[in-house]
Order: sequence, then C-alpha cells, then structure tokens
Amino acid sequence: FTAIFIISRLMSIVGISEHWNSMNISSKLPPLDVAIADKLSVDPSAVESASRDYGHIAKVVPKAVLHPSSVEDIAALVKFSYDNPVPFTVAAKGHGHSVRGQAMADNGVVIDMASMKKHRNGTGIRVSSDGHYADVGGEQLWFDVLNATLKRGVAPVSWTDYLYLTVGGTLSNAGISGQSFRFGPQISNVYEMDVITGNADIVTCSPKKNSELFYAVLGGLGQFGIITRARIPLEPAPKRVKWVRMLYNDFTAFTRDQELLISINGRRDKNALDYVEGSLLMDQGSPDNWRSSFFPPKDHKRITSLISNHGIIYCLEVVKHHDDQTEDIVDKELRQVLKGLSYMPGLMFEKHVLYAEFLNRVESGEAKLRSRGLWDVPHPWLNLFVPKSQIADFNEGVFKGIVLKRNITKGPVLVYPMNRQKWDDRMSAVIPDEEVFYAVGFLHSSGFDDREAFDDQNAEILQFCDEAGIRVKQYLPHFTSKDAWINHFGSKWETFQQKKHQFDPKMLLSPGQRIFN
Ligand code: FAD
Repeated sequence: FTAIFIISRLMSIVGISEHWNSMNISSKLPPLDVAIADKLSVDPSAVESASRDYGHIAKVVPKAVLHPSSVEDIAALVKFSYDNPVPFTVAAKGHGHSVRGQAMADNGVVIDMASMKKHRNGTGIRVSSDGHYADVGGEQLWFDVLNATLKRGVAPVSWTDYLYLTVGGTLSNAGISGQSFRFGPQISNVYEMDVITGNADIVTCSPKKNSELFYAVLGGLGQFGIITRARIPLEPAPKRVKWVRMLYNDFTAFTRDQELLISINGRRDKNALDYVEGSLLMDQGSPDNWRSSFFPPKDHKRITSLISNHGIIYCLEVVKHHDDQTEDIVDKELRQVLKGLSYMPGLMFEKHVLYAEFLNRVESGEAKLRSRGLWDVPHPWLNLFVPKSQIADFNEGVFKGIVLKRNITKGPVLVYPMNRQKWDDRMSAVIPDEEVFYAVGFLHSSGFDDREAFDDQNAEILQFCDEAGIRVKQYLPHFTSKDAWINHFGSKWETFQQKKHQFDPKMLLSPGQRIFN
C-alpha cells in the first residue's frame, strides 16, 4: 500500500497518473525507491526558486523539485522517469547561476543539488592523503573547494572569476578565467568523475575508463549525465599574489602584449604568469566594477578622464603567485616579464594580496551590489570566443562600432586570450578553430524595464559577426533553434548527437539548454 501511495504521489506530481491509470498497468509500475517520493517537493517556494536563475530573464516552472540526500536518490528519480511510458525531464540545478534558464525543466523535475551538501557528512570535499587531488561532490561550490584544500596547503590550479558556482555547473560549461591560458579551463583539470546518465546508470569515468562518457560530459551542457563527484588535481597553494593592472589606449598594443604574455605557458615554466585577463574600461562612473575594486581612489579621477578622452581604455591584468618571503623576488621577476610592454606610461597599478583574497575577489563586489538591490536583477549576458586573427576586426566593429556608440554598457566587459592547445578536442566544449582565441564577456546588469536594449545590442553584435565573417563561438551558449545548435557545434554535432542517443536516449537531462527538447 505504501509503495502504491508513494508512486501515485510521484505520478500526480509529474502529471502522468491519468495516463497511467488509463493504461491500467499498475502491476507493471517501475520500482521506485520509497525514499525519493518524500524528497520531492511541490512547495510553492521551492518551485518558484527552481523557476528562476541569476539571469532573471527566463521563468520556467517545473512540476516538482527533488531535494536528494544521496546519489541513489538522483539515480532513482532518473530511473523512474526512464522507465516511465511518459518520461519527464530532469534538470540538475547547481547554484542556478545560468542566465537563460539552462538549469530549468518545463513541467519536469529540478534537482536541487545543494541539498546533497547537508547529507555528505563532511565528505563532500575529500583531499587525498598525498594532497595530489580532491574528490569533490558535483554540488559543491568552488569557494568551499578553495577553503577545504587551502587547509591542507594545496589548491586546484584552474578557476573561474567568481567562486559561488558549483563544480557540476562549471564542468558542464568549461570554467574559464585568467589561469586558462596556462592550465587550461577547469574541464582540462579533471582526473575522474561519477556520473548518473540519462539511462540511470551510475558510472565512474576517466580518460582511461568509460572515456566516451568522460569527454562527453566535460563541457556537455548537462546533456549526458549528472556529475555527482569529480576528482580535481591539486598543487601546492601559494600564500600571496602580486596583482598588476596596466592601461592602454591602443587595442593593437594591448592584444600584442596579452598574446606575448600567454605565449609563455608551460605548467612548470617559472617565467610564466599565473593569470592573464583583460577588460574594457568605459564610461560607467567609476573605473572599478563589481568584478573587483582595484584602482586606488586617488587615481580614479585620472583614469576617468582618460576614459572620457578615449572612449575605451583597455586594461591588461596579470598575477604572479609567491610566498610571504619572496615579495621582493617576485617584484623583480615581474618587472623583467613586463619590461617592454606598451601600456601608457605611468599607468601601471599593483598590489600584493593573499591568494585566497585574489581568487575570491568578486565577493565584495557582490556584497556591495546586494546591499543596493542590484544583484538580483536581469543579466542579459553575452559571452563569446573570438579567433585571434579576427579580434582587431571585432574591436573595430563591436567594441567601437556597436558598444561604444550605443553607450549602454552596465557591468564588466572582459577580453582575454587563451591557448587552444590547453583544451582537449575530445571534450564537448566548443571553441574557435585557431590556436589562440579570445574570451569576450559582456556581463551586463540591466533594470527590469530596460533589458530589451541589451538584448538588441547582443543581437546586433551577433549579426555583425555573422555578416563580417567573424567566426565567434558562444560560451555559456543560448540558442532557440536546432539549426543554431547544429551550427554552434559544427563538426562536433554528429558526435554530440550520437552520444546523446547513447547516454540519454530519452532526452531527459538538462532540457533548459533547449538542444534536444
Ligand atoms: P547551473 O546554472 O545551476 O547549471 C548550469 C547547467 O549545468 C545546467 O544545464 C544544469 O542542468 C547543468 N548542471 C548543473 N549541475 C550539474 C551537475 N552536477 N551535473 C551535470 N549538469 C549539471 N563561468 C566561467 O567559466 N568563468 C567565470 O569566471 C564565470 N564567472 C561567473 C560570474 C558570475 C557572477 C556568474 C553568475 C556566472 C559566472 N560564470 C563563469 C558562468 C558559470 O560558470 C555558469 O553559469 C555555470 O553554469 C554556473 O554554475 P551553476 O553551478 O550555477 O550551474
């Protein structure tokens, strides 16, 4: 009786009971783990929260939310859907920091991955006894990974700018930041994963074991399985960093210097920098933004007037790690590396900060925006990868031709190069077909009533690139037609589709990406 009660509860949640009853096949009901029915919630606040994300653009309502307490709960839910004559979709929601509903499930079930944390009993992040790797739950935030590993004097080498993202969420995209040119994106820094496929199999995969699934899942937009554990390599953590920003008014000089700096990129090369990024400074009131406040207040006026004179100032940002004792040495080494760069004289700014403070640099900006009610607002972001050979055209046509003219920018605009050789082509992630390419991020915040202007600008940028033959690829992609997805994946589409049929033949997983659903 209990089993039938729970099953009918789940069926009514997913809206299939009528169908089921009409088929009169109750004796053939798929087995349902009694435990998960109680973890399914139709509570309005849980459903509302699963209908939203950081973007505040999409609103997609699921039928229910699963609050799992174990990997088995997640597998049981996927199995129940898989075995069902009327399967329902299932979306893992990490921290919901997508901007276009990618972690939502229309009429399906959203898995609130954060619920797993409470039940890990301290085993969500386990550093190996030799400190060479950490086994990390897919639901864990990178912020927590940093803190747990630093306690052992070690840390991962590849990061995102912002740490309140989950391991499963960034590994489903790529996980990029200023470390990527040297260490590759986060997806290039995974030894092994546990994944629940759309067939409800719990599979351990690595480059040697079930490698097809391993590479499919990395950058796979959640299409092939739910990551419940990732084994992340660790290295000895530095104590402090030297953090430098240099300003340019000449885009050619700016990109030439960036490319020079990322050309020294051996993992063990002592001359290599540890982080290289760049951004546009435009007229937004202050040269600082929520990504990090950096410039000394006494210099704000000087920088602001440069921006007024030039329209756009390009800011090259680098970091070199060091230990407490080696501050002088790193200063000397860095001076050597940066010697001969073409930033504007007198416009180099530098500071020493703790390593953890640098990695968590966005947190204070978030707190400031939150206190002003400006964090939970629409985020019509556009993130692109642009081939190096076309970045000058992109500057002329997009930065100067569209963005400067429209003059609506609200939020950081990032532009920094990385090396294709640090990515593995077997992974699902899509990048331009050129050895060096740029990540360009328009990280806009808009009001609830002026979002359209940003959507229009994004559309104009994409149209311009299309017409000018600039072969951009979207990062954190969002498309509304199948053709656009096929075009996005290009030569990888056949494999992507074939792996979908293999690992999620009923198209259950991550429907919010809108690739197969
Ligand atoms: P969600 O938004 O919850 O999910 C994203 C997708 O992954 C969905 O399709 C979801 O179904 C799927 N998914 C979630 N968890 C799992 C899992 N365990 N297994 C399988 N699939 C899963 N990205 C960068 O690369 N670099 C940055 O510097 C960076 N900075 C950012 C700063 C901010 C303020 C924000 C909001 C985002 C930033 N991002 C950055 C983007 C971020 O990496 C993506 O939005 C990522 O998807 C967010 O992770 P999440 O845990 O919130 O995932």
